[in-house]
Amino acid sequence: MYERYRVKPEQEIDLNEWDPADAGAFEGDKKAGKEATKKLNKRLEALQELLYAEGKHKVLIVLQAMDSGGKDGTIRHVFDGVNPQGVKVASFKRPTPEELAHDYLWRVHKVTPGSGEIVIFNRSHYEDVLVVRVHNLVPEKVWSRRYEQINAFEKQLAEEGTTILKFYLHIDKDEQKERLQARLDEPDKNWKFAKGDLAERALWPEYQNAYEAVLSRTSTDHAPWYIIPANRKWYRNLVISQILVETLEGLKMEYPQAEEGLEGIVID
Ligand code: ATP
Ligand code: MG
Repeated sequence: MYERYRVKPEQEIDLNEWDPADAGAFEGDKKAGKEATKKLNKRLEALQELLYAEGKHKVLIVLQAMDSGGKDGTIRHVFDGVNPQGVKVASFKRPTPEELAHDYLWRVHKVTPGSGEIVIFNRSHYEDVLVVRVHNLVPEKVWSRRYEQINAFEKQLAEEGTTILKFYLHIDKDEQKERLQARLDEPDKNWKFAKGDLAERALWPEYQNAYEAVLSRTSTDHAPWYIIPANRKWYRNLVISQILVETLEGLKMEYPQAEEGLEGIVID
């Protein structure tokens, strides 16, 4: 249904051509959009239970965005009410000394989903070609070969039974201004603001370039990127919920066979 937000393999991406404020068929109808998301949320709840019960598939969801792009809000809203037993969030911060002493995929591979699990990556191995590229944390020779390495890593996960969905939450610079300002103006949101966010904001064009390279080079059939219009939070939640529900339904999952001879058993 939202195929138009999917990046085709090797499609060259110019983010200026992607409208961050798009609301598709729900333009002007936020209420209907929110109701649709609520219904999808119920379906997601049931599908996650089935995934857990069947214990066969592994699902990995990658969330990437500029600061204040809405990664946390997406997790909170899209997975609202879903049984926490089978869903985990893995957040990737600045690497620890131990992590830095290993290759960049070491910390990532360890937290990929097991059978029956959904794991959401709040930031991911893509930081190693985003912040790392923008700040020259390793030489170009090193980061430039990572796109291929990442494709190979994700291919391996997919071949071993992991369904991978990657969402880039696309906001524009004005929307970020509003959101960062709100983090300063509202005392309850101060904790979300780091002075360093301003330095990153100043590097907006460099980050957009780095994102364009990621989207153009690492969207594959087995691990596609979706560019989600994210200026409007309710539409962002709707689109991600829809893609997730459709993908899980496509797995054709079934509850495991019941043990034989259950009929007629009465508990006393
Ligand atoms: P929010 O978006 O809500 O502010 P956050 O994900 O930004 O949450 P922070 O603790 O503010 O969480 O930031 C984590 C920081 O870690 C980011 O600036 C990110 O770029 C950085 N980071 C993540 N992975 C790496 C990496 N491999 N190398 C260097 N920095 C990294
Ligand atoms: Mg931050």
